[in-house]
Amino acid sequence: MKRDENEILMPVERALALILETIRPLPVEPCGLAALAGRVIAEDIISTMDIPMVDNSAMDGYAVRTGDVAGAGRRDPVGLDVIGELQAGAAMAGLLVEPGRAVRIMTGAPIPPGADAVVRFEDTEERGERVSIFVPVVKGENIRRAGEDLRAGAVVLGKGARILSADIGLLASINVREARVYRRPTVAVISTGDEVVEPGPDLLPGQVRNSNAYTLVSEIARYGCEPRYLGIVRDSLEATRLLLGEAMGCNVIVTTGGVSMGRYDFVKDAIAALGVEILIQNIRMKPGKPCVFGTKGPLLFFGLPGNPVSTMVSFIQFVRPALFKLMGAARLAKPVVHAVARDDIVKKPGRVHFIRGLFTVRDGEFYVSTTGPQGSGILRSMSAANCLIVLPAETERVRAGERVLIQLIQHEEI
Ligand code: AMP
Ligand code: MG
Repeated sequence: MKRDENEILMPVERALALILETIRPLPVEPCGLAALAGRVIAEDIISTMDIPMVDNSAMDGYAVRTGDVAGAGRRDPVGLDVIGELQAGAAMAGLLVEPGRAVRIMTGAPIPPGADAVVRFEDTEERGERVSIFVPVVKGENIRRAGEDLRAGAVVLGKGARILSADIGLLASINVREARVYRRPTVAVISTGDEVVEPGPDLLPGQVRNSNAYTLVSEIARYGCEPRYLGIVRDSLEATRLLLGEAMGCNVIVTTGGVSMGRYDFVKDAIAALGVEILIQNIRMKPGKPCVFGTKGPLLFFGLPGNPVSTMVSFIQFVRPALFKLMGAARLAKPVVHAVARDDIVKKPGRVHFIRGLFTVRDGEFYVSTTGPQGSGILRSMSAANCLIVLPAETERVRAGERVLIQLIQHEEI
């Protein structure tokens, strides 16, 4: 019976492809430099200048002519006349390094004409207006070349890149104070279930603490989207329809629970009553089989399963890439690498399994262990994990020492 059931479930890759096909990136808006972190750039940013603008010193020392100091050594230093000093930001003030001369120079100061290398202070000794140079240097030594960081005309950031701290620094350095980025999706989050209770009051027997809403709001914010938490809806068609109705103005709605075959699972009926076309109902994976996806115009609806681990795994596989596509991101996938399994893992064939794992790296090789009991309600297995071990549908067992694929989930890889 199970085998037949699995055949009618939608494969994970098909589901993801179908979801992504329905999505167009959101409109573009301008954004000030300081607020760009985590946003996705909607245009190629081209440098209009060389960075650094001029050749400058990488060290505190003396700007010299390499020919003058070719024979320098500790015992037979070369003596040069010090004709002046250059500080970072200083104007050149007509300094010219002619043969037999040197200029005292600080890190970041422009290299004066005539000089073609810098000798570090540590390799010199100054007395009066003379400096003894103890070492030879090669052409260009301790000089940062104009344009070595960035050339005028170079693409600093390509459309679709997610902006990280170094990128913001680069944008500042080429005097970009505002850039065009994709709008941040608004994402409504709704929990369902008569038994589900917010943190606060003591639980009565049979009640369950609402963890999903908090997991999801945190994930949504982490990827630079705007979560709108709307609360817990009771298990009634009418109440579910009403609260979902309030969420219809968002770009995305994510619910948890209420999508199985139980008598109190009203999410599908409620969302269909609001005119959402349901495109996916069940996916060939574990955990996370009951997972609903639908659209109404540009609105995306995700009905995630209620079990806390299923909620997270489904979010990572489907909602997260969907949010990134909405935000115009070019790269959507979590990185997947090979790892050596440390444990035996047994599974039923038929569905892809996402097993919570903890990877370590030794001598450049990934190793992975499972994080203990894997029940889809055991959120601890997820909190102890830094990856998901992805076992293909047909796999029945993995022996310790064999290679498996792991999806890295705790990395800012986009
Ligand atoms: P359901 O799909 O509604 O039957 O929910 C499946 C399981 O997940 C049940 O054991 C629920 O109690 C649990 N569950 C549902 N919603 C939440 C939530 N927001 N936080 C934690 N557990 C939940
Ligand atoms: Mg329920």
